[in-house]
Amino acid sequence: MADRADNRTSTAEATSAQEELIDQLRPVSELMVRSSNMVVFTGAGISTESGIPDYRGSDGVWKTNRIPTINDVKSDRQSREQRWQHQRDRYPKMQAQEPNAGHRAIARLEETGRVTVIVTQNIDGLHQKAGSAEERVLELHGSTHRVRCTQCGRRYDAQEILTRVQRGESDPRCEVCGGVLRPSTVLFGEPLPEATLQRAAQASADADLMLVVGSSLVVKPASQLPVVARKRGAELVIVNREATPLDDIATAVVRGESGPVLESLVQLVVNADARQERDPKSASSGC
Ligand code: NAD
Repeated sequence: MADRADNRTSTAEATSAQEELIDQLRPVSELMVRSSNMVVFTGAGISTESGIPDYRGSDGVWKTNRIPTINDVKSDRQSREQRWQHQRDRYPKMQAQEPNAGHRAIARLEETGRVTVIVTQNIDGLHQKAGSAEERVLELHGSTHRVRCTQCGRRYDAQEILTRVQRGESDPRCEVCGGVLRPSTVLFGEPLPEATLQRAAQASADADLMLVVGSSLVVKPASQLPVVARKRGAELVIVNREATPLDDIATAVVRGESGPVLESLVQLVVNADARQERDPKSASSGC
């Protein structure tokens, strides 16, 4: 009896928390409904619900400091060999990681035709795995799923190279020119890929709304993109579980977990679109 009463209480609490969330999100969704040129900007926080630690969490790379420098990769064979072994052991787990509700909600938002690009600081490939269009995802820090030659630039799938490591090549080389291979992620001390950064900066300058999800907004130059967007007149919406240095310039800040927040937010946008289609005069009445 007591158990059933407890269940009823917790169901009622969950319903009221969901209603509160929807009330908080409604004005944000109205900004999104009005947008026709939106940039989504994501950080490590969107992937924590997929089991990938963020940068500054206790298991994060910031703490464990496993990112090599470009010099380690180019001139230190022993360091390269250690890294390939580490990658070989770690990659199956990375490949098995699945997108979560947040990545899926963004892919659904793309289907509404408002999103021009997704700028991500993540290297995990989960936006594409969730269904986001490859050509729309700008990976500012590269991808863990690719490897490239330091000499001729030839690209490889990480899996192909790691299979060679598995078969006994401790320091695999480029099959075209024999050059040293490197991960396709940005290493310590390296600049971001210029063409990608430029495309991201241009999209931010042109955007009418930027939605930032799960970024501490402290890693430059990526963290400047929302500032560029805001200065050029875009609305700025920040979804994060804790405060960020750009909260003060944002149009709206939603403090919460990215998966449930984005799921509800995008549902409100999709519902508004459906209402608008049924009755064009109801445009973003918010009911
Ligand atoms: P960050 O770790 O500096 O910040 C993540 C932010 O997200 C924090 O403010 C945290 O409070 C918030 N957060 C964590 N989980 C959340 C959730 N479920 N819902 C809402 N907010 C949540 O990450 P950053 O700003 O992206 O910058 C760090 C760098 O880390 C980038 O250079 C990136 O390349 C690298 N990185 C990438 C991955 C990945 O590919 N998934 C993982 C770790 C680090």
